[in-house]
Amino acid sequence: MSLNSHIEWTDATWNPVRGCTKISPGCKHCYAETFAERFRGVKGHPYEQGFDLKLIPAKLTEPLTWRSPKLVFVNSMSDLFRDGVPDDYIEAVCKVMVRAKWHTFQVLTKRSERLKGLLNGPLRFAAEQEHIWWGVSVEDRKYGLPRIGDLQKTPARVRELLQKAVRLDPHLAAGYLQLGIVYADQNNDAKAIMAYHRAIEADPRMDEPHYRLGQAYARVGQKEKARKELGVYQELSLKSAEEIERERSEIPQFVFELRDKR
Ligand code: SF4
Repeated sequence: MSLNSHIEWTDATWNPVRGCTKISPGCKHCYAETFAERFRGVKGHPYEQGFDLKLIPAKLTEPLTWRSPKLVFVNSMSDLFRDGVPDDYIEAVCKVMVRAKWHTFQVLTKRSERLKGLLNGPLRFAAEQEHIWWGVSVEDRKYGLPRIGDLQKTPARVRELLQKAVRLDPHLAAGYLQLGIVYADQNNDAKAIMAYHRAIEADPRMDEPHYRLGQAYARVGQKEKARKELGVYQELSLKSAEEIERERSEIPQFVFELRDKR
């Protein structure tokens, strides 16, 4: 897989690693696995070994040979942070991305803990690069929100990343909520309030945006609105988490699951 990817949001795919293993329910219909396993045993085919993990060092420098700027989906056929991909190999991938500044790279993972550790450690040099977008897959609340939490604990440009994500899916309550939290952390209450309102529009039954909106209104001195939101929060939070989960249809696939049609 390289240029002219069929994945609609990207110009090119780059697969210096092939193969992966399932880690969460969002992997159930993994496109990459279905594709790779079709060719298991086909002699000479790049996926002769199906979806087994394989490092492809010969592919490492491929983006450096693409002279025109591209939006590059990194590892559409794997997860760069999967166990078994050595740290120094991931570092080599990052060095190429840093060098190839004329492209924009999208690196998406479900292994957010490893992402967090490396971006705060040996890969810090790549974390803050504007042309490298780090992202996590948020398939549901249970698996997704901890991944967003990990991503937020990295030096990656999370705010921009979340903005892009919510533009991709305007019905994304969890995304708007996280965006609001990021704005609030930056003392930008006006934008935080807007983001929380969008989260509530997307999912009126979610209690946390009301709580945070109430706090934000209180900070900017709008006491009546703050009281109202905190009241709604109390009402909603009286419902048991189980009941809410039963009622709420699955949270839309967030961020990179939208893009993650592997
Ligand atoms: S490539 Fe992605 S969806 Fe497929 S098994 Fe790996 S993590 Fe899961």
